[in-house]
Amino acid sequence: MNIPLLDLKAQYQSMRSEILAAIEATCDEQGFILGPRVVALEQAVATYVGSAHAVGVASGSDALLLALMALGVKAGDEVVTVPFTFFATAGAISRLGAKPVFIDIRPDTFNMDPGLLERAMTGRTKAIIPVHLFGQCADMDAINEIARRRKVGVIEDACQAIGAGRNGRRAGVLGDLACFSFFPSKNLGGFGDAGMVTTNDQALAESIAMLRVHGSRVRYVHEAIGINSRLDALQAAVLLVKLKRLDQWAEGRRRNAARYVQLFAEAKLDRVTLPVLGAHNFHVFNQFTLRVQKRDELRNYLKENGVGTEVYYPLPLHLQNCYRDLGYVKGTFPQSERAAEEVFSIPIYAELTDEQLQYVVQTIAAFYRKH
Ligand SMILES: *Cc1c(COP(=O)(O)O)cnc(C)c1O
Repeated sequence: MNIPLLDLKAQYQSMRSEILAAIEATCDEQGFILGPRVVALEQAVATYVGSAHAVGVASGSDALLLALMALGVKAGDEVVTVPFTFFATAGAISRLGAKPVFIDIRPDTFNMDPGLLERAMTGRTKAIIPVHLFGQCADMDAINEIARRRKVGVIEDACQAIGAGRNGRRAGVLGDLACFSFFPSKNLGGFGDAGMVTTNDQALAESIAMLRVHGSRVRYVHEAIGINSRLDALQAAVLLVKLKRLDQWAEGRRRNAARYVQLFAEAKLDRVTLPVLGAHNFHVFNQFTLRVQKRDELRNYLKENGVGTEVYYPLPLHLQNCYRDLGYVKGTFPQSERAAEEVFSIPIYAELTDEQLQYVVQTIAAFYRKH
């Protein structure tokens, strides 16, 4: 059997004609930057997450950068985030000349540990970026309580978490601003790069819309130094088709996750720790991430037997070369470092068959019988 980590072709086949028709219509219009399709997608995403506003941008990375700019983060400021995430979370902070201040994650959900937040904050702290890693929300209640008291902004890095929820509300309305990525491998993926910022704050939404076109509201009049970060009409056309199916795909991922839990329990694999669901969370499983012993040997064995896996993420950000100057040493964030050594993700996409799920678990079980 051959089971890739993600099979986008299977998803595409299920809606090929509808997507091609939407692309053709956009080509016939010959309007490629922003425009009515982007506005339609912004409205559809705002309705989907329950936010008052949504602003389309060029990528999830730019969504983070623009959200920080809208909050006024500048050189010398500090922004607290986690080191166990994709690089863009911290990269956006650094690109503004601000300093990422890392705090460790919780070992169960892999998300920001709010118990460590307050002692990492100083008079220079301007914002906090919790990451909803793997499709599960961070503990936003605790984070927001501290942020409100200390009067700093909260930006959700919801790039892996469109459709995820907490206490009945969706990612996208759980902080001051939220950032989404439509990179192809995300739960809602375009045919290239795209992103979105959502917020309930009209002034912040207007600020993002201004900053994404070089800081102008009126053409050739620039009131701030912004960037060029617009969402393409072609991406919006594809994403509008896919958004209608997003909940159905999330249900498929959740059904597969529940089946894995059942299969792993039956296999009695005590050296495999399954994803932990945080209280009040609705998990959409952008990744199904295991914590295991002998991770790298197990991954090789799975590869030899046709099962695709990936490590998200093998090197925490505080130990990256480009962040040497921040002065962090190994051992500073033990939970992030241990996660980087022990975790890996297995196929979870909606189109997987029960036979494929069984094969993945059987192959892992066979490995541990040998080792
Ligand atoms: C994918 C991702 C990003 C960046 O999104 P791009 O669209 O690839 O720029 C940022 N943060 C997290 C946690 C991500 O998973």
